[in-house]
Amino acid sequence: RLEIRNLCRSYEGRRVVDDVSLAVRPGHVTCLLGPSGCGKSTTLRMIAGVEMQDSGEIHVDGKLICDTRTRVPPELRNIGLMFQDFALFPHLSVFENVGFGLNGDRAARARRIREMLDRVGLGQFENAFPHELSGGEQQRVALARALAPRPRIMLMDEPFSGLDNRLRDGIRDETLDILREEDAAVLLVTHEPNEAMRMADEIALMRGGKIVQRGAPYNVYNSPVDRDAVSFFSDIN
Ligand code: ATP
Ligand code: MG
Repeated sequence: RLEIRNLCRSYEGRRVVDDVSLAVRPGHVTCLLGPSGCGKSTTLRMIAGVEMQDSGEIHVDGKLICDTRTRVPPELRNIGLMFQDFALFPHLSVFENVGFGLNGDRAARARRIREMLDRVGLGQFENAFPHELSGGEQQRVALARALAPRPRIMLMDEPFSGLDNRLRDGIRDETLDILREEDAAVLLVTHEPNEAMRMADEIALMRGGKIVQRGAPYNVYNSPVDRDAVSFFSDIN
């Protein structure tokens, strides 16, 4: 379970993340949805630990991992990451990419790598290199890599935005199934209402660094807080 409380971050005196609080349960997907520049990625980077908040707390499974005094380093947070520009290692095979950062003995690692590759439907590609795969296949390897260490929390920042429309829907659904099987708590960032409607159990609508509305996708869509929310959702299909 991921819980963040009153997270704040300013750049050059401007608050880009302003008192953001959120909780995500295992097996659930919360979408942080909002227009470009509203502070989504900054929020995710603070949770990942690659950026430090000015104030506020981050808890994973009830344990404080970051506030102004405590700071668990990123690699010890048990958090999986999948970002659009978070590329695979080009000089490593698919097998090695998925195994990167996995602990345990060799046999246990190999078992887990093959389990994840089968799960994303790429078992036959374990010896291939990233450049030999399509964009969608690479994205599935990235998902397998992120989930291989069994993270309790999964952070995804526009993970499907590099894919063409035709591929995207299928990969979204597949990804959801796999995330649920692994029982991770998922925080997914997107600026696309469509994606949030399709993937989220809960939407947190963000604007100007603040969460202005939250709830089940259907409720957020049907009862927009204000005119800006209406127009933000207007291009949905
Ligand atoms: P997008 O949908 O375009 O990815 P976002 O919601 O992820 O947008 P952020 O990347 O979190 O937005 O940025 C929020 C604001 O903070 C933006 O105005 C951005 O210019 C600013 N910002 C982000 N990182 C820095 C930085 N390192 N230094 C200064 N300003 C920054
Ligand atoms: Mg962003």
